[in-house]
Amino acid sequence: MELHDSIVIGGGQAGLSASYHLKRRGIEHLVLDANAHPGGAWQHRWPTLSMHDVHGVADLPGLERAEDDGAAAAREAVPAYFRSYEQTFDLPVVRPVEVDAVTDDDGILVVRSGERAWRTRTLVNATGTWTRPFIPYYPGIETFAGRQLHTVDFTRPEEFRGQRVLVVGGGQSAVQFLGQLAPVTDTLWVTRHEPRWRTEEFTPEAGRAAVALVEDRVRQGLPPRSVVSVTGLLLRPQEEEARRLGAYERRPMFSRIEPRGVRWTDGSFEPVDVILWATGFRHAIDHLAPLHLRSPRGGIQLDGTTAVADPRIQLVGYGPSASTIGANRAGRSAALGVVRWLADEAATLA
Ligand code: FAD
Repeated sequence: MELHDSIVIGGGQAGLSASYHLKRRGIEHLVLDANAHPGGAWQHRWPTLSMHDVHGVADLPGLERAEDDGAAAAREAVPAYFRSYEQTFDLPVVRPVEVDAVTDDDGILVVRSGERAWRTRTLVNATGTWTRPFIPYYPGIETFAGRQLHTVDFTRPEEFRGQRVLVVGGGQSAVQFLGQLAPVTDTLWVTRHEPRWRTEEFTPEAGRAAVALVEDRVRQGLPPRSVVSVTGLLLRPQEEEARRLGAYERRPMFSRIEPRGVRWTDGSFEPVDVILWATGFRHAIDHLAPLHLRSPRGGIQLDGTTAVADPRIQLVGYGPSASTIGANRAGRSAALGVVRWLADEAATLA
């Protein structure tokens, strides 16, 4: 079986950026992507998420995205750009390949997908979070007689017309869902913490400070928090109507779920038809478990993008680089990490 210099797992923003930088440095590699089409997680975003709604999708390195009027659906505009990006730079993407395990076979990494396997000297993991939706457990969750769905299942607000929708979660997705739902349904919002609204302009300094906080966590081997969780929430003009309707008057978390609604510790009860869990994601890294990269503190400790436990492995789109800008930078850093490791290996063998 051929031995590759590097394999990138995942063909989203982080994986494509890594592939671009590896190619520029002449590193032979493959990109294995689980999706049947280009676009990473963007192809699965809800249809009503327009380019106007997203917080700014950074261009991938070396190719500007054509201007759009903002009305285009993100699930179409971004994948179209990724497709032309892969073609322009002739990136070696193989799909669909869903990697289920990476093992170490006598110093060579073996990347497995069902019956198929690839051997490689180094690995760049760029699998994002979309495939690992997170729903917290609350007592009674299994008894709820209405509909429960997660951010990944949301399609359009009209689907919920005439129903009472409980939105759970304190992130930007919850804020956007309420903005769309409140004008057409009856909504209720619960969050674990008092929402922290961002009133000041979002400056590059504030962005860097937020990223530095998350960077510090992964340097210590702690599980990363999302960058958005430390930047604060933003209400935009398209959420104004929901605000006027009182959709952002949040309640603290309930203590249990009953067949027809939710109950708080003080005994109060609210009937709801739908629970929309906008409760975020975890990193999709189960396939790396055989490599034992996790630190005793629960996260994968990184030095830049390099796994401290195994410097053959780079993680991009993880923790502080889980944004389009962060993913771009991480792709470059990962390529440099791969180059460094291959050079060290060649020097050792010489
Ligand atoms: P993804 O785009 O998720 O790509 C990962 C790829 O890896 C996918 O193609 C997937 O199929 C593949 N994959 C996963 N597991 C495997 C496997 N086992 N084997 C093979 N392939 C696998 N960031 C911004 O900067 N601006 C925004 O406006 C913004 N909006 C967002 C809105 C929402 C609703 C969410 C959830 C996130 C948003 N983000 C935004 C964050 C965004 O997710 C990142 O910025 C970026 O798109 C993530 O890129 P990625 O390459 O790490 O992951």
